[in-house]
Amino acid sequence: MNQYIKDTIETIYNRYDSQPEFVQAVEEFLLSIEPVVDKHPEYKKNDLLMRLISPERLFKFRVVWTDDEGNAHTNMGYRCQFNGAIGPYKGGLRFQKNVNESIIKFLAFEQTFKNALTGMPIGGGKGGSDFDPAGKSESEIMRFCQSFMTALYRYIGPDIDVPAGDMGVSQREIGYLFGQYRRLKGNFENGVLTGKGLSYGGSLIRPEATGYGAVYYLNEVLKHENDTLEGKRIGVSGYGNVAWGIMKKAAELNAKVIYMSGPDGYIRDPDGISTEEKLNYILEMRRIDPMHCKPYAEKFNCEFVPNKKFWGVSDVDIYMPAAVQNDVGFEAAKLIGDSGVKYYIEVANMPTTNDALSYLRSCEHIIVAPSKAVNAGGVGVSALEMSQNSERLSWTAEEVDEQLHRMMKTIHDNSVKAAEEFGLGYDLVSGANIAGFEKVAEAMLEQGLF
Ligand code: GLU
Repeated sequence: MNQYIKDTIETIYNRYDSQPEFVQAVEEFLLSIEPVVDKHPEYKKNDLLMRLISPERLFKFRVVWTDDEGNAHTNMGYRCQFNGAIGPYKGGLRFQKNVNESIIKFLAFEQTFKNALTGMPIGGGKGGSDFDPAGKSESEIMRFCQSFMTALYRYIGPDIDVPAGDMGVSQREIGYLFGQYRRLKGNFENGVLTGKGLSYGGSLIRPEATGYGAVYYLNEVLKHENDTLEGKRIGVSGYGNVAWGIMKKAAELNAKVIYMSGPDGYIRDPDGISTEEKLNYILEMRRIDPMHCKPYAEKFNCEFVPNKKFWGVSDVDIYMPAAVQNDVGFEAAKLIGDSGVKYYIEVANMPTTNDALSYLRSCEHIIVAPSKAVNAGGVGVSALEMSQNSERLSWTAEEVDEQLHRMMKTIHDNSVKAAEEFGLGYDLVSGANIAGFEKVAEAMLEQGLF
């Protein structure tokens, strides 16, 4: 192994031993850019790798809010401005019980390279809170969002840092966050957040963008293999916004999602989760209770398997983990390897543990695509939302969709090119890491030391 990479990995293990997700993301990344680092001795002189894996800054603040009974609660809030070399920091906010510094940092790190891959001028950031939205009333959510923004507003702005949604933060929360930002600033700066409602500067196709983009990317992979989407059966973990977008676009392109899962177990619907009625039902089910997907099986009379994941089934052609980080561990990866399924397309951020990912990449019959490329369409369309806001106009759904489609094709093609340049063959994981890294590294080197 390259000595400089080895030393850097050792440093992060020592320095961040209490941040396992962050260390995991950095290690996987550094190992796959090795051929580039080998070619550039000047990186070491510039301390480029340590600078690259050290966030520019990280804000931590308390967020106090009152519940409907008038009791006060205190949560932690975070915003990590990881790397601003190519544009204002950009990335979502996650509201979930398990959110901590390590998770926010791994997400912000991944975001930096994902955003670079989109070709848009956006740096990497991420934020959130350990607030648990489950079971909260509408007014509790509003009060929490207002309090969160009261702490955050001084650090963000349309040219500084532009948050958006992630798990637990959708258009509703973005609305409350934006309202509070506007109230505090006394300015209509709608470019400060993306994922907004259409009536105040949101972009058409943004809610669908991550899922649609994932299917467009998948389509490029299939084309590369002289294959098509027609008739393909897909297993998607999760049933959130991203999974929903995949189901919708897959149905449109004559493929079908036949598995989905939630924290309570998984659903198998061999007819495909494809009709408008089913897709609308998923939205409704999630709004009422984001922890259980079982009601779908009751409503549409199909199989529900409690407390299990479907990794290892062989009646699909494509696996798309689209739920949470580390959803697929080593044992699951072995089952996936044995299933004979050819395509493993990551969608959620870091859905695969490092040992599982190495195993899957070593399976000759499997093509692995990395999340930071596959899910980049979401933030890509957020960047299009920023463009529309700064020009004070809005594009049609067709215009946005066409740009999204083009963006996903470019991400795939640039990853392929980057991997080929270093003699790695059709290696989408290394290709994405290298292409994202090269862009950020070039900008950092040209801007001098800091
Ligand atoms: N949270 C999403 C992501 O992981 C979207 C970020 C954004 O639109 O800024 O990329």
